[in-house]
Amino acid sequence: MTEIAGVGIGQGIAHGPVALMAAPLEPPTDAPSTRTPDEEKALVASAVSATAADLNERGERAGGSARDVLEAQAMMAEDPTLAEAVEAKIDGGATGEYAVHTSFVEFAEQLAELGGYLGERAADLADVAQRVIAQLRGAAAPGVPDLGHPFVLVARDLAPADTALLDLDQVLAVVTTDGGPTSHTAILAREKGIVAVVGTGDASLTEGQTVIVDAAGDVVVADPTPDEIAAADQRAAARAAAVSAPITPGALADGTEVPLLANLGSPDGATEALELGAEGVGLFRTEFLFLSSDEAPSVADQTASYRLLLEAFAGKKVVVRVLDAGADKPLPFLTDADEENPALGRRGIRALQHREHVLRDQLTALAEADSDTDADLWVMAPMVATVDEAEYFTALARELGLRTTGVMVEVPSSAILAEEILRKADFASIGTNDLTQYTMAADRLLGTVAHLQSPWHPAVLRLIRMVADGGEKNGKPVGICGEAAADPLLAVVLVGLGVTSLSMTPAALAEVRAELKRHTIDDARRIAAAAVSAGDAAGAKKAARDAA
Ligand code: PEP
Ligand code: MG
Repeated sequence: MTEIAGVGIGQGIAHGPVALMAAPLEPPTDAPSTRTPDEEKALVASAVSATAADLNERGERAGGSARDVLEAQAMMAEDPTLAEAVEAKIDGGATGEYAVHTSFVEFAEQLAELGGYLGERAADLADVAQRVIAQLRGAAAPGVPDLGHPFVLVARDLAPADTALLDLDQVLAVVTTDGGPTSHTAILAREKGIVAVVGTGDASLTEGQTVIVDAAGDVVVADPTPDEIAAADQRAAARAAAVSAPITPGALADGTEVPLLANLGSPDGATEALELGAEGVGLFRTEFLFLSSDEAPSVADQTASYRLLLEAFAGKKVVVRVLDAGADKPLPFLTDADEENPALGRRGIRALQHREHVLRDQLTALAEADSDTDADLWVMAPMVATVDEAEYFTALARELGLRTTGVMVEVPSSAILAEEILRKADFASIGTNDLTQYTMAADRLLGTVAHLQSPWHPAVLRLIRMVADGGEKNGKPVGICGEAAADPLLAVVLVGLGVTSLSMTPAALAEVRAELKRHTIDDARRIAAAAVSAGDAAGAKKAARDAA
């Protein structure tokens, strides 16, 4: 038995024989073309449009956010700048295949150098190039093997086109050697509930080898013993039972209520969230309204979107976060393009305060949508670092007609100042993704520091406890809306630290609901105390497991 560490996505566990992803195509050589440039260009143009059509068609079949990802890939295939680069190389005597290969590689290298979110899109671009070249050769696109029996798919990284259409009856789990927790493989695996461990490094697994993929344990076990396989089966069965249990409001074993809310990125996810038992929305990210345009959308357009959301959650709490621009979400009309450290720059509330008209328009649209609908609308500001910023935001939001106004705690300073901040704000919601990044000084998108990016770290847990204490002293609620809330045992720890609600990707609701029911508030406090006094993230997780 060998253990290979990685980053688990979700909480699942599965086992089966390894199937290695088909090797990429042989790269084309630079032998000169025997065709005329016009003939080469015509062949490339038809290969590109066939590739784009294929990607769009896969997107259509997959639906959901997979469709957006695949449509974005289809747009990459037909990108006019890339087409120009390809044509220039063909004019210089290259074959269509070689021109496509080199142009896409150059562009992917530029993206990879940018790092972060854009860097992770470089893999998407390489996949598009492979698909175009396969079209030019009349060969099958590289992709997921079809073995006729279920398998654990092992790949360097999966392209969105592959992840979106994975046949879940065949693919028991996915292991990738590359790719971090924000790669498309991870995002789509989380959304589809695929058991996955990503970023294992060079795992040297072989075709047909038996593995256990244990996402909760962040590990792949190669050549497991029969006992280990039996234990994995037991855990998988317990998980299946928990996931299919009847939907009830979130609560601990003693009846202590812990509302379980949904994180949403557009109104489209509302129906699914409600079906999965979301008791409201704990984080509505509004960036989707802004990201694809060169200017802020009008108040009327924004109002229409917010109204859709609030209508879907009539009678329920809906927490909307105003625009969080900057860092990995730059917006030309709001953020500075030339910051050296954009994660530490003018992002979130700082950017909005600098361009207050954007914030005023958004709050106005929210207030208008609120007055037409019956949901209980709360609004909050991202990246608040000071008491002044909390005061500024809550005062402006109230002036514009919003009743319940709060702040996100994502920066250590605001956790330390929570007691003072919560004198001004009506509530706090802790964004553990950024709070972990800033506490540990570890870029949340950077694979090389992924080991420091754990919200289990006692440094992060102690800050969360400070916020919960600040809430209690002021009689104000403190929720969690970062990924930490989606980890069932960590959710128990968070409640034990004094957090009053949990918001997560809807796919995680069932498992968190089931785990909460296993512990009383006294248990949760005891488990939290054990985790907080550990020395590091792994120690905290172990201490919590032992105490539970
Ligand atoms: C967070 O930082 O935890 C959070 C919820 O915000 P986002 O992930 O959108 O930055
Ligand atoms: Mg954040």
